[in-house]
Amino acid sequence: MNDILPDSTAVWQHLEDTFREIAGAYGYREIRFPLLEQTQLFKRSIGEVTDIVEKEMYSFEDSGGDHISLRPEGTAGCVRAAEQHGLLYNRQQRLWYQGPMFRRERPQKGRYRQFHQFGLEAFGMAGPDIDVEIIELSVAFWRRLGLADCLTLELNNIGSAEDRRRYGAILGEYLAGRAEELDPSARNRIETNPLRVLDSKHPGNRAVVEGAPAMADCLSPESVEHFEALKDLLAAAGIGFTENGSLVRGLDYYNYCVYEWTTDALGAQGAVCGGGRYDGLVAQLGGRPTPAAGFAIGVERLALLLETLEKIPADAQFRADICIVVIGDGVTAESQALARRLRERYPDLRVVCQCGGGKYSQQVKRAFELNARLVAVMERAEGGSPQQVKLRSLDDGFEPVTVPLERCEEEVERLLSPDS
Ligand code: AMP
Repeated sequence: MNDILPDSTAVWQHLEDTFREIAGAYGYREIRFPLLEQTQLFKRSIGEVTDIVEKEMYSFEDSGGDHISLRPEGTAGCVRAAEQHGLLYNRQQRLWYQGPMFRRERPQKGRYRQFHQFGLEAFGMAGPDIDVEIIELSVAFWRRLGLADCLTLELNNIGSAEDRRRYGAILGEYLAGRAEELDPSARNRIETNPLRVLDSKHPGNRAVVEGAPAMADCLSPESVEHFEALKDLLAAAGIGFTENGSLVRGLDYYNYCVYEWTTDALGAQGAVCGGGRYDGLVAQLGGRPTPAAGFAIGVERLALLLETLEKIPADAQFRADICIVVIGDGVTAESQALARRLRERYPDLRVVCQCGGGKYSQQVKRAFELNARLVAVMERAEGGSPQQVKLRSLDDGFEPVTVPLERCEEEVERLLSPDS
């Protein structure tokens, strides 16, 4: 990414750890899938006539003549991979993923050509309960980040595939009547995919879109029922929302409920999370019909929001637990052995052994850079092996102590324990 955020490593680690924990708590397991896929996969899932596929994908022909694209989003690759590995066969499945996505957009604050998403997808559950559970999971994430009060949930019902075909015909007819007011790109979509004109940000098109017939008038009883039940469950969970009839999302695979979490603290790029249900996609990509729902969170926007609102917690900073300062060449092997023993005995401890040596003051400076809670100084005693280790706190949390090498591990445990 070109626009590196200040302190991005620490914030990202914090975001990733938190999301991993929350996704795990709701029963999601991580899935990995490639950055490169056959271009056809994205055309078939996102839709041929969408901004992403028509204008934003990084696509090329490789030396073998295959048409390949960098993934612009995660759902298509996730479904493809899960299907290929038999993860969706006759069962429910909750999966989450993270990683870079690529879209050729005009870069600006909060919008990049390579950006990162945390996403999750739930398969095999048709009712609105799973939609609400997914939304609740996102709320749990916002809460943990201290962002729950800064984000608004916007919802819309875009109906079933059949509802949208019906609505598409009505909308197409309306748009054809006002075609001369539309820009050429929107005009081309009247025949091919009129619903995508609703996404248009072009000011001329906006006026036409504002007068368009409403999707709400074309919804089948099943779509309405799903949406109403979903709203009831949201209310029961105490999750507030606003309905936004013009929220259509730029991807063709969605049906029923779609939503975005937005903020007004980031200017024009206010959406930090987008999701919804996509019951037709698995079958469309060759699998058995499988209901599905999911969302994707924009990690850069989230980091930017935390930074803008000054909500980066102090403990988001990387912190080594113990930094071993190695004085003189003669103690390298013993220092590494101590680090090894500590890591084996206390697998959660972050142990950094100073490689490359250097003066005491230089090594302590590096320990400060690592935010170390404790420094262990290994120094060869006069004429022998290091029988003793000096343990000190960098923030005067305790008085320095010198302990025999063989008692070092217990002493480290004692000094790092919360009530020492
Ligand atoms: P989408 O797949 O378009 O629904 O995007 C889901 C989320 O990813 C959005 O709500 C944004 O937070 C984020 N996102 C999408 N496109 C970009 C981009 N070009 N740069 C940064 N974040 C993005």
